[in-house]
Amino acid sequence: MILSTITRNPIHDHREINSEIISNNFLNAENMKHFNHYIIGGATCYLFNPPLVPVAMIGSVAPDYIEYILNSPIIQQIRKSSKAGGVIKHRTTTHIMIYWIALILFAWLVFDFRGIIFWFAIGGFTHVFTDALSPAGIPLTPFSTNRSSFFGGKIQTGVPAEYAIAIIYLVLCLFVAQSLNTQMGFVPFFYNWAEEYNKGLIDGYEWKLWRFKIL
Ligand SMILES: [Zn+2]
Repeated sequence: MILSTITRNPIHDHREINSEIISNNFLNAENMKHFNHYIIGGATCYLFNPPLVPVAMIGSVAPDYIEYILNSPIIQQIRKSSKAGGVIKHRTTTHIMIYWIALILFAWLVFDFRGIIFWFAIGGFTHVFTDALSPAGIPLTPFSTNRSSFFGGKIQTGVPAEYAIAIIYLVLCLFVAQSLNTQMGFVPFFYNWAEEYNKGLIDGYEWKLWRFKIL
């Protein structure tokens, strides 16, 4: 049960990172390494929709890059003049888990363009989920006064275990994708439903209904 394994850290604890350090030293900030984010986001998408792996990979680092862009001098100027200013602290606004879940649901149920928003959002979700495995954690909702870590937040950034988890996950996804593909004689990816849809074999409603039914 995930909930029972969530631990909470005050947002303003000693692990809080000064945002100036982040902008100066962005890629070394206390993130899960981007390499591992790319792998986990990309592998997840590969299981279901191989053509959109690059989109999921962009999404898988989006929480950090959006934060970086919002803290850039130009955007800061605009934000200050609109009184919404202030530097965004690391792993706050762009790392709020329900925002990414909301975007997934929006893309799934309301509007999407060829799965691009959906897989971008899945990538973003894998980012905040894996950041939540680290001791500093992430906020679950905009109202969270604590950051939450999953499974005890044992995965320190850059340790071998972090790479091991990413690589094992990748191998598992490749293996599952491969065995579903070859042993069953068809590719059970969302992609195929989209293709059938394009060929006019099933209508849009059926596609929406069936695209998550893997088998
Ligand atoms: Zn992050």
